[in-house]
Amino acid sequence: MRNIRNHIPQRTCVACRKVRPKRELIRLVRISDGSVEVDSSGKKAGRGAYLCLECWEIGLKGSQLKHALRTTITQDNREQLFRAAEKLC
Ligand SMILES: [Zn+2]
Repeated sequence: MRNIRNHIPQRTCVACRKVRPKRELIRLVRISDGSVEVDSSGKKAGRGAYLCLECWEIGLKGSQLKHALRTTITQDNREQLFRAAEKLC
C-alpha cells in the first residue's frame, strides 16, 4: 500500500511537536513591533509559529512559543491572544 498524502499542508505545533493538518492549527505571527498576533488568514508576513487547539493555553504560557518566534510575549499581549482565539473557536 502506498502512503497517500494528497498534499494537505501540514505544520508542526511548537508545543507538542505533533504534525497536523494546517487547518487544525492556529498560526501566530510576530509583527514588526515584536508583539504577537493570531493570524487567522495564515498569510501575514513575519516569523510565524503554529499551536494546535489542545496546546493553545499551555503553548501561550510556555517558553516554546517565545523561542519559536524569538520574542517575549507580554501579559497584555497574551491576553489579546486569548481573546482572539475565543473568536476563532
Ligand atoms: Zn500541540
